Amino acid sequence: MNGQDEAQQIEYLAIEIRVCGRVQGVGFRPTVWRIARDLDLCGEVFNDAYGVLVRVGGSSSAVDDLLVRIKNEPPPLARIDRIESRVFVGNLPPQFRIAESLAGDVHTQVAPDASICSDCAQEVTNPFERRFRYPFANCTHCGPRLSIVRGIPYDRVNTTMAPFAMCEACEKEYSEPNNRRFNAEAIACHDCGPRMTLIRLDGRTTNFDQHSMVDSVDAACRLIQKGEIVAVKGLGGYHLACDAANADVVARLRGLKRRDGKPFALMARDLEVIRRYCSVGSVEERLLMSTAAPIVLLAADGLQSLREEIAPSLSTLGFMLPTTPLHLFLLQRMDRPVVMTSGNVFGEPQIIGDTAARERLAGIASYALIHDREIANRVDDSITRVMAGQSRVLRRARGFAPAPITLPRGFEAAPELLAMGGELKATFCLVKDGEAILSQHQGDLENVETLDDYRKNQALYAELFGHAPVALVADLHPEYLSTKMAHEWARARELPVIEVQHHHAHVASCLAENSYPLDAPPVLGIVLDGLGWGDDGTIWGGEFLLADYRGYERLGAFKPVAMPGGVQAVREPWRNLYAHLVAAMGWAEFAKNFAELEVFADLSSRPRSVLDAMIRNGVNTPKASSCGRLFDAVAAVLGISRDRQAYEGEAGSRLEAAVDPDALLSVSDDLAYPFSIHSSEHLSLPYIEPLAMWQAILADLVLKTPVPVMAARFHIGLAKIIVITAGKLASGDVGESAPRFKTVALSGGCFQNRILFEEVARRLEQQNFTVLSHAQVPANDGGLALGQAAIGAARLIDAEAIQIELVNPHISQTRKNGHVPRNSRPHPENR
Ligand SMILES: [Zn+2]
Ligand SMILES: [Zn+2]
Repeated sequence: MNGQDEAQQIEYLAIEIRVCGRVQGVGFRPTVWRIARDLDLCGEVFNDAYGVLVRVGGSSSAVDDLLVRIKNEPPPLARIDRIESRVFVGNLPPQFRIAESLAGDVHTQVAPDASICSDCAQEVTNPFERRFRYPFANCTHCGPRLSIVRGIPYDRVNTTMAPFAMCEACEKEYSEPNNRRFNAEAIACHDCGPRMTLIRLDGRTTNFDQHSMVDSVDAACRLIQKGEIVAVKGLGGYHLACDAANADVVARLRGLKRRDGKPFALMARDLEVIRRYCSVGSVEERLLMSTAAPIVLLAADGLQSLREEIAPSLSTLGFMLPTTPLHLFLLQRMDRPVVMTSGNVFGEPQIIGDTAARERLAGIASYALIHDREIANRVDDSITRVMAGQSRVLRRARGFAPAPITLPRGFEAAPELLAMGGELKATFCLVKDGEAILSQHQGDLENVETLDDYRKNQALYAELFGHAPVALVADLHPEYLSTKMAHEWARARELPVIEVQHHHAHVASCLAENSYPLDAPPVLGIVLDGLGWGDDGTIWGGEFLLADYRGYERLGAFKPVAMPGGVQAVREPWRNLYAHLVAAMGWAEFAKNFAELEVFADLSSRPRSVLDAMIRNGVNTPKASSCGRLFDAVAAVLGISRDRQAYEGEAGSRLEAAVDPDALLSVSDDLAYPFSIHSSEHLSLPYIEPLAMWQAILADLVLKTPVPVMAARFHIGLAKIIVITAGKLASGDVGESAPRFKTVALSGGCFQNRILFEEVARRLEQQNFTVLSHAQVPANDGGLALGQAAIGAARLIDAEAIQIELVNPHISQTRKNGHVPRNSRPHPENR
């Protein structure tokens, strides 16, 4: 801006300020309006295709003040990515005003749903306010967004608020720039907005006045206090609510929901209630109170305990605070936490429709607290956990999606594309204008309703973001429904499909959210997860990849071990234990040395000969280099989880929970279980061999070593060998002086294990590696789509570059045929 120098000398200055980021639909224009009037400036502010544009004139010092204050006082839900200013020549309205949006391709961003703000919370609890106890109160700084939107632009008519005509009082607030409800599309009050009703799900009628003289929300609270299960229609879906401190009702809910061991989410009135059960650190406190208001996993080490009923065999409880006025009132009189678990039937997504709720939740809940505003889009509760002092998103939905993630330097020219994600914990991701828009958590696509929802949401996002992909990106796994769908679509629309290896996508996801530039040197990606399709047709899941966005080289792995029964081996940890013991030492050796152990008797009683035959003949017994399966096997040997896992990752979570903090402190590196690094001709890769660990853990079982100590020894031993492997791979072949990489990216669901993650990260940093890890997007498959998107974008950027330089007919030909050439480095086995 060359006006800067002149600005100091002349009195009058007129400039144009361009603000980019999440600045539409969040009260940005009224904020600018208020500041400009404050400073006695003339001009106008309006939305256009690029964000917000301010044209302003006045004394140069006032104009400077405006710039500073826009930067420092944005409205709570805004996110400023960029502010630019330049001298403006032209006429300005003498009184500063909010002008109509400029026509054209307005790039309206839909903000994430936001938890009730402090102003609204005060208002609805003040008996002298007209919105006293109004469950749907909201303003520009809070309330529903993604959950109610049906199309663009984000105006009331395109939301599920459309049927509610504003009353005069609301209309007035809506049109006053100095009101915090100016242009708040979901504005409502007792007179004109949605209403709550409490119904019995068995069809009978009740006079709810016997429960409460206040209102139906208070009556629902009374019913929860009396030990009833109540279905509650919340912001992004139905919940099932009951008194968390009432063991009988919790057990009943668990039985009716067929939710064997999976933990329930809890909601508490305030931090004080949470602190009775859990310790809450400062980062955790900020998270709980944030506008996203996610579920936060907290150490369940308070004076009171709910652990066994709510989160069996785990060491954490997932708590959230009230997110809407409705929840505020529901919890107001509850001195105890309330179970607030998603309202669904086993395996299905959270219910959002009233008819579905009446039909399917009737067998679980006796009452339903419903309302007449439709939920347009299912938005599950987000889950977060603080690890290594930083907030980590484990499930990204309410409060976070669809906030875009700015792609790193080098991706500015990325064309529009759609990445389809994985199969479990699926999400999808759009690339547009240098940003990645990751969908909210969709769930497991093998469920028909989840798959329908996934399709519906892809169409919605395409409309919301005016998105028309030039290519689709999918996982290599031929059986993933998301991959199959990508190919179907690609054929129908004549688009290419870019296939991306699962663990490469994990690494790229971690790089992208850490703003790692496109042309920066390769990193070592350590990806530890359950299962993903390898590029050699085997199953991977414990991988050391030298990778950038463009390609990767597999430098090392966990030892591949048979999974007798395939999917069944994932569900039944004892199968992995058996396969691991056989692969490590053989059954005869195990029988000779450890016949006195209970686990020997147990495994002897299982159908071993069937498994032996399966392993021998390779029938339904894929080999997997999986870290997740190693966790399963260790949990099985310790008796923590042997027969069956009720949910994905249960054995690993229980194994982590078995480590008590004292045991962890007492385990020095010498006492950690040993692993070794072997080189296999077969794999032509170094791999982590667990034989020594098995010998040590079995010997500890003979000595009756306490389980917490054994669990700690396993975690630390595993972290140690991972870091040793990274060190060896960095130094590369003998004779190389410079390390092959200085940065290590950690990804994969196993890194949601706090102990493993913190130990690996700390030890890598001690070795002077720069460690990149996940925070904004999940380390598990929920983050996969972001990595796919980045890799797809990198390949298309390269393909474009080649095309422009050479006008290469081959690329355009292959793109027409539905495949962009894979641009990965040669793999060792192909050299
Ligand atoms: Zn508010
Ligand atoms: Zn009203």
